[in-house]
Amino acid sequence: MDNLWKTTMGKVSFWSEVVEDLSLGLPSHAINTWIDPIKAKGVSNNKILLEVPNQFFLEWVESHYKNTINASIKKISKNKLSAEFKIDSISNNQKTKKSQNTTEEKRKTIKKPSPTNKGYVFDGFVEGANNQFAKTASQAVASEPGKPSFNPLIIYGGVGLGKTHLIHAIGNEALKRNPNLNVVLATSEKFTLDFVNGLRKNKTIEFAKRYRKADILLIDDIQFFSGKEQTQEQFFHTFNELYQSEKQIVLTADRYPSEMKGLQDRLLSRFQSGLVVDIQPPDYEVRVAILMEKAEQNGVDLPYEIIEFIATHIKSNIRDLEGTIIRILAKSSLMNRDIDFGLAKEVVKERAGNNLDLGLSCESIINQVSDVFAIPHKDIVGKSRRMEIVQARQVAMYLCRNLLDASLSSIGVSFGGRDHTTVIHAIKTIEQKGPKNPSLDKTIKSIEEKLSFISS
Ligand code: ADP
Ligand code: MG
Repeated sequence: MDNLWKTTMGKVSFWSEVVEDLSLGLPSHAINTWIDPIKAKGVSNNKILLEVPNQFFLEWVESHYKNTINASIKKISKNKLSAEFKIDSISNNQKTKKSQNTTEEKRKTIKKPSPTNKGYVFDGFVEGANNQFAKTASQAVASEPGKPSFNPLIIYGGVGLGKTHLIHAIGNEALKRNPNLNVVLATSEKFTLDFVNGLRKNKTIEFAKRYRKADILLIDDIQFFSGKEQTQEQFFHTFNELYQSEKQIVLTADRYPSEMKGLQDRLLSRFQSGLVVDIQPPDYEVRVAILMEKAEQNGVDLPYEIIEFIATHIKSNIRDLEGTIIRILAKSSLMNRDIDFGLAKEVVKERAGNNLDLGLSCESIINQVSDVFAIPHKDIVGKSRRMEIVQARQVAMYLCRNLLDASLSSIGVSFGGRDHTTVIHAIKTIEQKGPKNPSLDKTIKSIEEKLSFISS
């Protein structure tokens, strides 16, 4: 079969024939999202090896497209081949690096696979005021591990805010700079399990060696050490030994160390000898930036208004933002639907559940007007008499009246306590100007359209 692959069909042309065949049956967004990223790697044992970018992708393609893909492969190979999917876990730059390694180093790399997730690197980590300090400190530690003032480094913050991403990125970056470093990464559960297994099998010495010979020890989610006295004892010794030999230790936790119940005081005071940094929930701009990054990573081109919409309504954490994009992708592909505002709204509604307030209000109207006119919310409700601001304010008042049927005086209140005559004047002005001014008319219609998504 390998011969067939080499002789009668070049690697590229065979797979591109398959893709061409698939394009006849699948919608183009499915091809863009799920077929184009697949790379054909070769053939062995009558299987054509297909590389996909990640686990989610693998599961998705296997459950939704495997049969279709296989049918095309069978057709084109005349029943000789079928598909086998594999995750491409090594990023390109590591591939280049690897090929430059000597055989000796190669052997080492294989013997000692790094435990880090290669997808978590600093590059893809969007920086904002909420996580800047944590990211900078992590980068510093990755480039110069073991400096006393940053040792240990403790990163704390709520669920889904990027702690695991950062701790893996530290490991990946340190290894990239020095592939011979012994980077040991584990969750606190894994550490506990290793310890317990060591006890059970009389192999505590091996356990101790494994962790104590680390050049960089990374332990994720140390809150799970709480209440586990024996494990903490072990960790305390590991910590001290590494610390004394100036090996870097990085820990993550879901809260500030001293707020963790069930941790021994001596551990806590060790933790405080280094640097403690926090990650806060992302603000609006960071959410938008993260959504753009995730859309790009997943190979979708999300219109900006959809990104804004998600960022406005999904606020709690980054895992949710990511999940929303993946769900939109999945739905679009599964149900053969275009990715549009309606689909985005459905998914956001599902995910945000009862917390989602899509109701229309003067507030949301002012926000939309502020966006479209690029005039800050506070200016629209403020006192400025500048022409463009006055016009935006009048449009917003007009829309509040038309879309909400709000009383004149309540509109006045929403605009910084103006009286009803001002509101009447605004509405009249727009009613007269609108029809005579096509560009203003168009702007108003586009705002109405956007708001209708919110209210329906
Ligand atoms: P935590 O460990 O704090 O619960 P994770 O590190 O698992 O959170 O992050 C959840 C998801 O969000 C991951 O897929 C991660 O890659 C992503 N993520 C978190 N912060 C960022 C960021 N600043 N930029 C890009 N992706 C991020
Ligand atoms: Mg985590």
